[in-house]
Amino acid sequence: MTTATELLAEIEGRLSVAHLEIGDVAVDVRNRWRMSIPARPDYDTDLIISRALDDGEKATSALRAVLALHEEVEVWAFDDVNGAWVTDDDGEKIPLPPVCRECTPHDSLLAIEDCEWSDDYETVPYPCPTVTAITTALSASEAGL
Ligand SMILES: [Zn+2]
Repeated sequence: MTTATELLAEIEGRLSVAHLEIGDVAVDVRNRWRMSIPARPDYDTDLIISRALDDGEKATSALRAVLALHEEVEVWAFDDVNGAWVTDDDGEKIPLPPVCRECTPHDSLLAIEDCEWSDDYETVPYPCPTVTAITTALSASEAGL
């Protein structure tokens, strides 16, 4: 089975080819757009660019899958002595810093769900390093446009 790293390298290679193809077309837009019958995936402009767009959709789906795992869990202040939510003057529950569902240990998540959480439980704040790395990488690509 091909690893995720190998698949990403293949995608990066096809994206690079697509970028070069677009650059070549832009230099001579009237004569450079190539389409063949039968189609040649590594030669035809439309197929090179379409494949790169498909790769972009796959990469986006992969990132969404990772982000779905590393979702934010809301944590609210709970008064375990009185067995009630801690509320502010307006009667609103007081939020504590959220944690990552994937990175926080399971027993800590159970304690949060059961309102038995305390500072003794290990938690990983949200956004976790994985979400931060994805956000940073996506923000960098936006800046490059
Ligand atoms: Zn996480």
